[in-house]
Amino acid sequence: MSCDLFDVIIVGAGPAGIAAAMVSARAGLSTVLLERGNYPGSKNLFGGILFTPELEKLVPSFLEKAPLERHMSRRRFSFLTTDGELALDLWSNRFNQPPFNHSFTVMRSKFDRWFATQAEEAGVQLLTGVVVDDLVWKDEKVVGIKARGEKEGQFDELYASLVICAEGANSLLAEKSGLRSGKSKMTPQNRTVAVKEVLRLTKEKIQDRFNVREKEGVSVVYLGEVVKGALGTGFLYTYEDSISVGLGCEMKDLIDRKMAPYDLLDHMKSHPVIAPLIEGGEVIEYSTHMIPEDSFRNLPELATHGLMLVGDSAGLINNSIFQEGTNMAIASGLFAGETAVEAKQKKDFSLSTLSRYREKLENSFVLKDMRHYGGFLDMMREHREYLGLYPELTLEFLVNYFTVDGRSKKEIKKETFRKLRKKISIPKLIMDMIRARKMI
Ligand SMILES: Cc1cc2nc3c(=O)[nH]c(=O)nc-3n(C[C@H](O)[C@H](O)[C@H](O)COP(=O)(O)OP(=O)(O)OC[C@H]3O[C@@H](n4cnc5c(N)ncnc54)[C@H](O)[C@@H]3O)c2cc1C
Repeated sequence: MSCDLFDVIIVGAGPAGIAAAMVSARAGLSTVLLERGNYPGSKNLFGGILFTPELEKLVPSFLEKAPLERHMSRRRFSFLTTDGELALDLWSNRFNQPPFNHSFTVMRSKFDRWFATQAEEAGVQLLTGVVVDDLVWKDEKVVGIKARGEKEGQFDELYASLVICAEGANSLLAEKSGLRSGKSKMTPQNRTVAVKEVLRLTKEKIQDRFNVREKEGVSVVYLGEVVKGALGTGFLYTYEDSISVGLGCEMKDLIDRKMAPYDLLDHMKSHPVIAPLIEGGEVIEYSTHMIPEDSFRNLPELATHGLMLVGDSAGLINNSIFQEGTNMAIASGLFAGETAVEAKQKKDFSLSTLSRYREKLENSFVLKDMRHYGGFLDMMREHREYLGLYPELTLEFLVNYFTVDGRSKKEIKKETFRKLRKKISIPKLIMDMIRARKMI
């Protein structure tokens, strides 16, 4: 049993935990960062795009130093039907100029490791291969953690004025603390299961297939048939000499529909739009992970005496079309770190000081965006037609409209509108479009 007393213990060396640790250590607080993996990032997975405005605040020179793969010069949103695609392909040369729209693909195994090194340089004590199982309480205040080492039977308790939980999407500590209770408890309905493969492809093939140049990259969000009507999306991202392809679906929906995520991934990879893009790619990594889907109104409490939740463990993710989690994780870590410094200065780690953390989040894009897009997933759950029927109808409509078969354009137009009206009533269509507008 150890009796070390730190100012701050942080559980989890993902973007949220590392950011919190960095801010706290830079202000001179004794800070220990605990990570269950052999190194930060070894157990982490995302799509994905690292969004960097908050990273820049912490490491202004990140553009030169961080292991970035490609900046996203092209962002594509693609609705798939069984045999077609309707896509919005957004490209801007502005995205090719610094700061590159603050959107980069990274390998988490490289990025998290690098980010953690920056925190260590700031004075953070990083301990890896340590699994935190529980919190230590005294007089209704969190005063430390119980941890398990790599060797069997190796247990330890560490004490601190403050614990920051940055465990990620499957945060058992957040539940044990009581901050995730009632509607914020983890359930199959508020967790997405994601599966992803990384496929090796040459730089030249990536650049040819995706119509980008050296260092430029593409992100694609796939909707519709790609997940056979389940509540979820597919994705494809380009790295320097590999691509990631994967999907995420609500766990409850998969259970109800008796669908296995790997089968869906095979289905996705064989789609006629996707297959040519990944052809010849050698699978070099396969992984699965959870994503929180806590809507704004079901967020957990974010702090109690001696404890704060950050990043995915607090459910801070914008799951609308923007799919932003990394920036929210880093921002929340930054605010939690600042709050820890204020608490140290006041010598008060009770909830009355820690509630500043929520205020900071409320005044930032984090809770503003979460509040604004809070109804997005509920709307998708209740109105599946946005993910299935509407893209199908639109594609069908356009395919018919542009058909060349010897008939006059007037005849084709009449027939196309007749077919559309048979499938959907115009008042419903108008109502649904108005509803959808609020979510953009
Ligand atoms: C498939 C997928 C695609 C995504 N795509 C994007 C995207 O394109 N853009 C984007 O911005 N976001 C994306 N996200 C979300 C983003 O990855 C998360 O929001 C972000 O990683 C959250 O950071 P975090 O630090 O809170 O948690 P994590 O990154 O999950 O880090 C948690 C850390 O805690 C450690 N840990 C967990 N439990 C313990 C324990 N008990 N003891 C010790 N250590 C522990 C873990 O090993 C891990 O290192 C995606 C997520 C997934 C799964």
